[in-house]
Amino acid sequence: MTRLATKTALVTGASRGIGRAIAIAFAEQGARVVVNYARRVEEAQQTARQILDVGGAAPVLKQFDVGDAKAVEDAFAQISKEIGGIDILVNNAGISIDGLLARAKVEDWQAVMRTNLDGAFFCAKACVRHMMKSRWGRIVNVSSVVGEMGNAGQVAYCSAKAGLIGMTKALARELGSRNITVNAVTPGFIETDMTSSFDNATREQLLQNIPLGCVGTVDDVAKAVTYLATDDARYITGHVLAINGGMYI
Ligand code: NAP
Repeated sequence: MTRLATKTALVTGASRGIGRAIAIAFAEQGARVVVNYARRVEEAQQTARQILDVGGAAPVLKQFDVGDAKAVEDAFAQISKEIGGIDILVNNAGISIDGLLARAKVEDWQAVMRTNLDGAFFCAKACVRHMMKSRWGRIVNVSSVVGEMGNAGQVAYCSAKAGLIGMTKALARELGSRNITVNAVTPGFIETDMTSSFDNATREQLLQNIPLGCVGTVDDVAKAVTYLATDDARYITGHVLAINGGMYI
């Protein structure tokens, strides 16, 4: 299938986990993919190999810290020169640093906000001009179920992910007239490096609250994000799509 042929997509945090799965799914649909990562170049190269394995076009690897405004601006300018503007942006890069409020460190709060929320703002700002000019664009923000329901011990992460939902709705209103859709997905418990440190008790407790009774996969998220990026979803904007097995309804 080539539902994204002729489109260029940038996926932040595509060296691993959910971002990698989205990058591969986009490539399978014919998109040219820019694979962003922060530090793990070998993992990013692995994403690139997997894209080629599924018959995708040669991807472009771009290391930059999404939370660094100048680095984002420079990277997008370079990409624009090398291969043109970005038609589809997925703000997926994220980190979580957990801890109860009383013991939370200001630096941790700032680091979480910087990567999860500032980064999405910087990247959207850097690619919107091209989307407006071409009168077609897709922005998908990867929020989280906890941005909707809250979670003890994750004040910064929940705030950043809830902020992404606000950003999604504001930008959907702002950019709709230019045929740019802006949506968010809110994954629940997805098996990745981010959740690999959960102990058995935490897993069991989480599973008890998931009506479908199982964890989600990166492909579950990638399929939903791919749909939102295609023309099949042309009339969907400002939407928050839950991918959580019923964990929060
Ligand atoms: P992951 O496996 O920990 O991967 C995180 C990705 O983000 C990596 O590619 C990492 O790059 C990149 N990254 C981190 N900081 C960055 C920065 N400053 N600039 C650029 N890239 C950066 O995470 P994941 O589980 O796939 O999660 C992906 C997204 O889904 C996150 O936004 C997360 O909050 C959200 N989410 C995950 C779950 C879940 O259950 N896993 C649930 C809800 C929402 P390097 O490899 O170079 O470090």
